[in-house]
Amino acid sequence: MENFSFYENEILKNTIRSMILKDRVVNSFLIYGEKGLGKKTAADYISAALLCEKKNGTPCGECKSCKMILHKTHPDVIYAEPSGKSGNYKVDTLREIVENAPIMPNESRYKIYIIADMDNTLVPAQNALLKLIEEPPDHCIIILTAQSRTSLLPTIISRVISLSVHEVTSSSCEKALAEYGYNSKEIQKSVEILGGNIGKCKSYLENEDIVDAVTITKNITDAVITGDEYLILKEFSELAGAKPMTLMVLKLLCEVIRDAMSYNAGCGEKILISTYKSGAVRLSEQITNAKARKLYIVINKYIERINSNGNLSLALNSLCSEIKENL
Ligand SMILES: [Zn+2]
Repeated sequence: MENFSFYENEILKNTIRSMILKDRVVNSFLIYGEKGLGKKTAADYISAALLCEKKNGTPCGECKSCKMILHKTHPDVIYAEPSGKSGNYKVDTLREIVENAPIMPNESRYKIYIIADMDNTLVPAQNALLKLIEEPPDHCIIILTAQSRTSLLPTIISRVISLSVHEVTSSSCEKALAEYGYNSKEIQKSVEILGGNIGKCKSYLENEDIVDAVTITKNITDAVITGDEYLILKEFSELAGAKPMTLMVLKLLCEVIRDAMSYNAGCGEKILISTYKSGAVRLSEQITNAKARKLYIVINKYIERINSNGNLSLALNSLCSEIKENL
């Protein structure tokens, strides 16, 4: 098994290794990247590298400390608990961490707090955490994760070391998925459709709906590229009644649009992350970045509306008209 099933991402691994070997470990990290790329796995990897008894700068995976982290039972690695439906962090939860941080670790050199998926964390809660990030006790390491750096306050961003996680090669992705015991043919199919995003492939393997969602997303993207209003309407009307599928499609669509904007801004095809990269490139040739941004905002608005239990058919209808207006 690859160490902690955290494949490739050599820049992140080298950064951590060199900090540990030079004994210049910083106290606060942010790991960022799209859903499914392994941000939480990276947080465990970093914790294990910091606490590994062999002190090689990488987790050995075999000492007591590494094993406890693998089983999520290490007393000095603390996972903050999000609360409520939205899965964000309450002020009280983060305040408690700030209050407990000065207490010395149980048995290790460091006490590590992992606060994952910060994207929806509101400003007051982020502010509560700021004090700890500004003046962390020496023994305290804080690892935040978020899909986007812009989800966090600039005052936090300026005080953490930001490390990004990336898609892995197809062969690493296949190896990682094989560790979960999936059928190898299915694995290949998932990697073909979704690329080297281990988490997305995994959710595909657990839930075939994502294949349909990817297909619908491709059809809608093509229809937007050719400006075929009838086709756009047709694809969306088929989603009526299927809320989870609709949300999946809209999120995938947002990724395609974001890719189109990145490509337009001069980013190479290599860093695109959506499930329809070639479509994103063609889309970028078809619409300006200003229009793409508008579409992105419109679709996100409807994701929110549908999430908050608005009428799905009505939402889809008006989404269609807003898309048309922006073509
Ligand atoms: Zn170890």
